[in-house]
Amino acid sequence: MFAFFKQFPEIIAVLSEKKDGSMRLLPKREDWLSENIENRKQYFEKVGLDGKKVIAAHLVHGNHVAIVDHDSPDYILETDGLVTIDPAVALAITVADCYPVYFYDEKKKMMGLTHIGWSGAVKNIVADTLGLMKKEGSDPLGIAVTLGPGICQKHYLIPPERAVLFENYPEAILKKEGQLFLDIKKIIYRQLKENGIVMISDSGECTSCLSEKYFSYRRDKPEKIEAMVAVIGLVS
Ligand SMILES: [Zn+2]
Repeated sequence: MFAFFKQFPEIIAVLSEKKDGSMRLLPKREDWLSENIENRKQYFEKVGLDGKKVIAAHLVHGNHVAIVDHDSPDYILETDGLVTIDPAVALAITVADCYPVYFYDEKKKMMGLTHIGWSGAVKNIVADTLGLMKKEGSDPLGIAVTLGPGICQKHYLIPPERAVLFENYPEAILKKEGQLFLDIKKIIYRQLKENGIVMISDSGECTSCLSEKYFSYRRDKPEKIEAMVAVIGLVS
């Protein structure tokens, strides 16, 4: 099991694997109530978060970040990032090539979890997540951030019309034999640093490279999308 933030024993920050089953929540609410609920329940139990109210973001590849607590609904619509200071709450998103980015302010016991693909990178949802954490009293110097597995540059071929969206990030585009490859991780690192974050780490893993371990949307192009769940919460 992949566990992040090992330096903070009070935090459970994990990502499910293929063997845990698909964790995706479907776009329509009536489907959410049945699809993969059992897989999710079992996984949250396995990682020790079954006592928590798990709140999931309904991902739209936007840049909205919501602050939640135990009174919030289980699913937060039109949202790609979640922040909480409520120890009774765990935060969840799903990914299958997009990066799960975990935030933790040890002093405030504030947690964040954000879903970042190319769109979230263009929209700089990193800045929105950190903006909300700062508004709630976090000092960027005290926020640790870690990036879970996501698609690597070698596996992320993009069309020219998408590459132009990244003209401010020339270091993240690789031109090779007339093709363009995007490095989302590099952009996230730069955005984190530009927002004053110094404690940054990442898993070093690519969802597309590790075909036995992770679902990958771009590699598998499945009819029905399968995804991992990223979750963060305090140890009970
Ligand atoms: Zn790869």
